[in-house]
Amino acid sequence: MSAPKRILKVAVPCPLFQSFDYLLPATAGNHIIEDRPIEPGSRVRVSFGRQKLIGIILEECVDSEYAPNKLKPVSEILDQRSLLPSELLDLLQWAARYYVHPLGDVLQTALPVYLRNNDDATPALNEIWRLMPVEGSIDKHDTDIEQILKRAPKQKQIYQLLTEAGETGLDADAFNALTDNWRTSLKSLIEKGLVVKTDKPAVLDSQTDAQGDITLTDEQFQVVDAIKPLFEQHGVHVLNGITGSGKTEVYLSLCEIALARGKQVLVLVPEIGLTPQLTQRFQQRLHTTIAVLHSGMNDRQRYAAWHAAAHRQAKLVIGTRSSVFTPLPDLGFIIIDEEHDGSYKQQDGFRYNARDLAILRARNKDIPIMLGSATPSLETLNNINERRYNAYYLRERANKKPLPRIELINMCSQKLHEGMAETLLDRIRSHIQQQGQVLLFINRRGFAPLLMCHDCGWTTSCHRCDAHMTYHKKRHQLHCHHCGSQRPAPDQCEDCGSSEVLAIGAGTERIEHFLQDYFPGTQVSRIDRDTTRNKGSLEDKLSKAHSGESGILVGTQMLAKGHDFPNLTLVAILDTDQALFSADFRAAEHLAQLITQVSGRAGRAEKAGEVLIQTHHPEHPLLQTLLHKGYAAFAEVALQERRAAGLPPARHLALLRCESVETDAAQTFLEQAMTLANSVDTSQLDIYGPLPAPMERRAGRYRYQVMLQSDQRSLLNQFLNWWAPQLQQLSGARKARWSIDVDPYDTF
Ligand code: ADP
Ligand code: ZN
Ligand code: ZN
Repeated sequence: MSAPKRILKVAVPCPLFQSFDYLLPATAGNHIIEDRPIEPGSRVRVSFGRQKLIGIILEECVDSEYAPNKLKPVSEILDQRSLLPSELLDLLQWAARYYVHPLGDVLQTALPVYLRNNDDATPALNEIWRLMPVEGSIDKHDTDIEQILKRAPKQKQIYQLLTEAGETGLDADAFNALTDNWRTSLKSLIEKGLVVKTDKPAVLDSQTDAQGDITLTDEQFQVVDAIKPLFEQHGVHVLNGITGSGKTEVYLSLCEIALARGKQVLVLVPEIGLTPQLTQRFQQRLHTTIAVLHSGMNDRQRYAAWHAAAHRQAKLVIGTRSSVFTPLPDLGFIIIDEEHDGSYKQQDGFRYNARDLAILRARNKDIPIMLGSATPSLETLNNINERRYNAYYLRERANKKPLPRIELINMCSQKLHEGMAETLLDRIRSHIQQQGQVLLFINRRGFAPLLMCHDCGWTTSCHRCDAHMTYHKKRHQLHCHHCGSQRPAPDQCEDCGSSEVLAIGAGTERIEHFLQDYFPGTQVSRIDRDTTRNKGSLEDKLSKAHSGESGILVGTQMLAKGHDFPNLTLVAILDTDQALFSADFRAAEHLAQLITQVSGRAGRAEKAGEVLIQTHHPEHPLLQTLLHKGYAAFAEVALQERRAAGLPPARHLALLRCESVETDAAQTFLEQAMTLANSVDTSQLDIYGPLPAPMERRAGRYRYQVMLQSDQRSLLNQFLNWWAPQLQQLSGARKARWSIDVDPYDTF
């Protein structure tokens, strides 16, 4: 009798929900297999249709639903050892079912991109180049350099760039961004002994000598003391602390405890903008090795950091959303900073929520997790109410300064200047006169949200979306912020030819211009995606804001969190009314979080702060509750409203979204999906649709959706896992693009 067949179950990156069986031949690629067991979590190359793809081995077994002669052999085993520990492999398989997403794509999303493009899983070194130190310092090169490089202008240019880079040096990406054809000249400089090459470490070391220890306040101490004995077991601990109350100090103390026990720690943060400041605080306080992971890094750097965490070289990982999938063999504690933040939810492809997966990971590992926020999400508050999570409070600012006073400015019948009431402008003036700094917050980039013809009313609408195109004055262009389309701005109406084309409404660019004229002598700095696109420009603007050099800051939500501006005395929110009347069910929650977070920016240091909110509806109950009773009271009311409306977290929600280029294709597909759903018992679910999405046309596609609600998550999940694989078979699926969104962040 021949030996039993060895069969591998493989997750292949494709849009199908199942895994695929392959035979394990005696040799696979370069490897002789013999009797060695195959480790789940290693990569294999397989033929799939006419393609060769890299898949992940889920398990080895001896049985298949298919006859052995129908199975193809794997072409190559790429990894001798598993890349994903079983803990992560389990988490990802669970996530694929929970979010009803194809497993191969889930694994693909979780693995570093580097591993998709490189067979060899040994991390490549991150090379950097620096000027050769002279007597221990790179400043000491003298003037005969001029002589040496006289006839080599390219080398001279590179030498210059490296001089500017100083001790940090430059890596290949930096060179590519600055110049081209640099490699040959760089090599000559190395040969001349002027430049050295070194390896950039994937892991940061601590800088603990930089700062002395901090003594915890009583409140901080009590939280740390309460959680300290709970490190042996799973628990979700919510740190609900007002802005400036010192949540980060609590994180640091708890990290110290975990690290002292030999554990690894995972810290998730919402945005890359926050990472440098926060990373520095961790480096200064903790005696440990830190790996940072965010989307600003290239594939090689990210993989090096990921690898360092997987091999215990980094004890602490700080990263954005996808870092939740970092292998950490000794993981003992997880922190989710700003847990309410929407960026934890991936909005396309595998639509996971990193906060929720982190909680599950902590539960599976039986370790504690902390969720921190000044404005916890309604989901989290609901879990506290139902005693699934523990709550801890920091009610005072660490510096004992009071929170700033919040005041509403009634815009009704006031004279407005580019959307700003005269009373607001007066207050800005008085703050500037007293050497205070002002932050104006408006969630709209560009000069004006649209252009309109004064003669016939024609507007600049996007040809591909149900939306207007924003006017950007500096480049004299129209941009659609929904699909990215751009075109030159018209000087005449495209309908009637009139040259009276008006810019309607105001965005950050227009407000910046206006204020610069209105307050000559005060430096106005605009901080939004348009002004911070170039490398280093955000850092530059932030440092000028920090030093007080910029008197007025005009910014979008980029500025809402994480930044400490010591001179800031006035914060104003210009556009609240839009959110008060939005169709989005989370709009009120987001507005309340924004007001509370932005307010926390003012009056952090010596000078007392003030917050002004412009609105045409000062009597609105949301604003009244928030101002007079605070965020917690607001959240209680909002939770009751969600309960009454049957919305999360009271009930569980999923969307089947569909879009198509042809007018009816999306709708047709969803009608077929409804027919399929109605063929089984769905009495425990509420299914509505197909309905047009709030923005029916976007990027040239028609968008429809079906909404599913249930009191029981498991029923909804069971139904979706039955439904999804069959949706793929529907005839309408070929002409439309569809996706399932479990726990959607919005319904747009
Ligand atoms: P949060 O994250 O809650 O907004 P931070 O942790 O950033 O607050 O702390 C706000 C400020 O207070 C920081 O400048 C921090 O260094 C300082 N701070 C926090 N805790 C203490 C403490 N126990 N003693 C002195 N300063 C503290
Ligand atoms: Zn016109
Ligand atoms: Zn568009």
